Amino acid sequence: MEVDYLIVGAGASGMAFLDVMFHETDATVAIVDRNDAPGGHWNDAYPFVRLHQSSGFYGVPSRMLGHDRMCADGLNRGLPEMAGKSEILHYYADLMENTYLPSGRVRYFPMSEYLGQGQIRSRVSGAVTDVKIRRKLVDAGFWGDLGRVPATHRRNFDVAPGVGCVAPNDIARHAPDHESFCVLGAGKTAMDTVIWLLGRGIEPARISWVRPNDFWIFQRENVVPHRDFFFPTIRGARAELISLSRAETVAEHCANMEKAGLWHRIDPQVWPDRHHAAVASLAEVAALRQVRDVIRKGRVTGITPERIELEQGTIATGDGRLFIDCTASAGVKLNLAEQPPVFDGDTINVVMIRPFQPLFSAALIAHMEATVDDAEMLRRCTRITNFHDTVAEFLAVQLTGMANQYQWSQVPGIKSWIESCRLNAGTHLLAGIGAEDTEKLALLGEIGPLTAQAAQNLPRILAAG
Ligand SMILES: Cc1cc2nc3c(=O)[nH]c(=O)nc-3n(C[C@H](O)[C@H](O)[C@H](O)COP(=O)(O)OP(=O)(O)OC[C@H]3O[C@@H](n4cnc5c(N)ncnc54)[C@H](O)[C@@H]3O)c2cc1C
Repeated sequence: MEVDYLIVGAGASGMAFLDVMFHETDATVAIVDRNDAPGGHWNDAYPFVRLHQSSGFYGVPSRMLGHDRMCADGLNRGLPEMAGKSEILHYYADLMENTYLPSGRVRYFPMSEYLGQGQIRSRVSGAVTDVKIRRKLVDAGFWGDLGRVPATHRRNFDVAPGVGCVAPNDIARHAPDHESFCVLGAGKTAMDTVIWLLGRGIEPARISWVRPNDFWIFQRENVVPHRDFFFPTIRGARAELISLSRAETVAEHCANMEKAGLWHRIDPQVWPDRHHAAVASLAEVAALRQVRDVIRKGRVTGITPERIELEQGTIATGDGRLFIDCTASAGVKLNLAEQPPVFDGDTINVVMIRPFQPLFSAALIAHMEATVDDAEMLRRCTRITNFHDTVAEFLAVQLTGMANQYQWSQVPGIKSWIESCRLNAGTHLLAGIGAEDTEKLALLGEIGPLTAQAAQNLPRILAAG
């Protein structure tokens, strides 16, 4: 079999890449994935998972996800809809079955592994298919593959026989048999799980929460890329840039972000030093604060019927408690010293080139592959924006993102493509703005100069720590 491109990984990144090649070129493509359906880790996600961001700018460029509606109820009422697992999986399955495959230009190999050297092996039959790749191999699977979701990760602590400890995927099946619940982990999965428990009517006193760390969280109300939220979001962006241009330390910037209503934290008494780009509304954080039994003794090292063992101590535990393991780490940092570039000879390594925007990044890389022939320009436009753990790392990644953004703005074809791409958050904010919108235009006029000042000051903040 011969194709122009072989894409490894039919996760959200591989699908975004495929979509652009499908619509912007006449290339033939093979796409291979270990899973039985497109969507990558969403196949293994817990049933109540939702996007952190609005559906409006998730997915592939050519197809809307969702209906541009606002959440009608719940803790995100009045805010743009965020697709859940089944909607996301349906979206990708429908694209594959009803758009890409019928064209005859795309061959899909589910339940298959890429072995290298153009060889694909079925994980069920073992049959090997040899593929001659005329143009490039696109590795859109390696980064996602480093991360883990609760259903597939291997616990790094021991659970004694007889102790109930499940992934959030199994909580609905086990919850009716338990009196109390202990959520393990401090990230977004743990937050989702606490909110699920509260939403099913479990009183906060029946929930305990092992939180080894605290994170800064984006306050959803003020980071909404939707035309109806233009003013809070652009005013928020302006406040962030002003802080980045003037703050002297990371801590000062954090304080500014909290004061501006852009970041919040679950416990106002604990100063977080970490940031994983989770997003939560004010009502969600208020709900999370209802859980008072927060165990801060480091990570869990073991659970027996009598106690929870942690890095910094032990807690007695009673019968009837269900432990919910939310300790998987979804985003793993790349070792940038060893990471080859995005455009690497006849391989394309699909990575993030805009902070925590993997799908926009994959689509833009595909667009560059389709339209840009200048190797030096491609290199300048594709610095990697790594995952981040601490606030300082987040700021460093923002600086890289600004450098990429500047390079993109210098290439007319790329600039206009971004401005019309649905995976670009700004596209949704600017929708429908005309010459008569003087207040909006004035506000937007401040963003460019402030970005330049922020890029100048960021290295100072990082040096001061
Ligand atoms: C709870 C949760 C919520 C999230 N919410 C958002 C959000 O709101 N917005 C956002 O932008 N991101 C969000 N993310 C991040 C999310 O990880 C990305 O959006 C995206 O789904 C990652 O897709 P991916 O294709 O890069 O990786 P994956 O989903 O991991 O897909 C990679 C695929 O490649 C396959 N693969 C790898 N190597 C091989 C091989 N050799 N042969 C065959 N197949 C291979 C894997 O099996 C896998 O299916 C969220 C993540 C989680 C866990």
